[in-house]
Amino acid sequence: MGFRDECGVVGIYGAENAAALSYFALTSLQHRGQESAGIAVSDGTKIKLHKGMGLVSDVFEQGHFEALEGSIAVGHVRYATAGGRTIENAQPFMNSFKMGSIALAHNGQLVNYEELRESLEDGGSTFSSSSDTEVILKLIVRKFVENGGKLGSPRHADDELFVTAVTQAVKEIKGSFALCIMTENLLIGVRDPNGIRPLCLGRTGEGYVLTSESCAIDSVNGQFIRDVEPGEIVVINKDGIKSILTNDSLEIKKRTCIFEYVYFARPDSVIDGIAVQEARYKMGEVLAKESPVDADIVIGVPDSGLGAAQGYARASGVPYGMGIIKNKYIGRTFIAPTQKERENMVYVKLNAIRSDLEGKRVIVIDDSIVRGTTSRRLVQILRRAGAKEVHFRVSSPPVKFPCHLGIDTPSKNELISSTHELEEIRQEIGADSLAFISLEGMLKALGGTNFCKGCFNGEYPV
Ligand code: 5GP
Ligand code: MG
Repeated sequence: MGFRDECGVVGIYGAENAAALSYFALTSLQHRGQESAGIAVSDGTKIKLHKGMGLVSDVFEQGHFEALEGSIAVGHVRYATAGGRTIENAQPFMNSFKMGSIALAHNGQLVNYEELRESLEDGGSTFSSSSDTEVILKLIVRKFVENGGKLGSPRHADDELFVTAVTQAVKEIKGSFALCIMTENLLIGVRDPNGIRPLCLGRTGEGYVLTSESCAIDSVNGQFIRDVEPGEIVVINKDGIKSILTNDSLEIKKRTCIFEYVYFARPDSVIDGIAVQEARYKMGEVLAKESPVDADIVIGVPDSGLGAAQGYARASGVPYGMGIIKNKYIGRTFIAPTQKERENMVYVKLNAIRSDLEGKRVIVIDDSIVRGTTSRRLVQILRRAGAKEVHFRVSSPPVKFPCHLGIDTPSKNELISSTHELEEIRQEIGADSLAFISLEGMLKALGGTNFCKGCFNGEYPV
């Protein structure tokens, strides 16, 4: 099986210090993955790669940048489930020929990974990891060689041959993918035909930046140009920037992952024309209209629940307060490998502010309920701090279906909304009342319908 990854990618072309810019960009994509980080850089003649386990700031030290000189780079931060947490699966992946190399960073998950790997192995390819990303890399290599690319090097072959290989490989892989690919002399960005995982393009100085979220363009003091289109391949080399569209019909295929707006993306990012924080405000407003309740204070669960809580307060007229403080120094709780650890992590991660809550009727907003672990503990924490009533509101619909396209959701029987009715969940988490936003309400807040909503309705584009 391929591992479930929700990751962050970056590609830099034409910068004096591509590794340093990648480092900044990856740091601002750190929320998308804390398991491993890596950067590959080309100085025009060879690619060097450094990657390791942990946060970007743990993996890179001053000395690494002296060794990572060059103007083209790809970088990656990885988030993975317990099973896939090894250095072999850390990215970028690199394939070295006799005289040149390819490096690739991938966010997403392939669905035809096993067939592809088998057929590549039958044809003599070897693999050093269990990652579906390595399959993409080896498929590109295969196409490149089949097309007459010299095993010598993509560096000396013309770029066109390499771009053709990428285009052919992209047509064979199925699933979700945002890719940053480089050789010694070019950078390529690819977004899957449904645009499930985000990818955008910006300028930085004289160069270009490709990245999962626009906040990373800001972090390198660049200018956002546009989102990469679903099915688009963007090629950047000495001749400038070229776009290849692989979607063969005009049928609108865009299915951006709706969970990016719920949880994954940073509030300062804009994805496919929708400002993430704005969307979260609106989800809160809709939720207030759909599920009002008399209360003294509205609070949000940091960080991803705060936007919706502010929107809820605005629309309901109930005052907004802080109520909960989050420890800044620990990562996202899902990473705790066992259920027991996850439950206890909540106490470390979140605490109630008694002076905000004592004797009050509290509306608490979170962006999602997945297993129900966080919400159960939260209600306890709020009551312990003196809340008189706790009304739980959730700014996404019930998560009922596991995702096979890159979001780290647990299996169906661990999803509390898949196994329990609303009233059972309310009892389970111990709230006085519980309501989720409706899917229609959420789409209204987002102002569109072209999303992958599989985790809510079970309908996946691939
Ligand atoms: P639960 O405790 O119900 O399993 O998870 C819900 C909480 O986890 C919410 O506070 C939400 O912000 C957060 N969450 C939702 N999706 C993800 C995810 O994919 N990874 C992590 N680490 N947290 C998530
Ligand atoms: Mg949360």
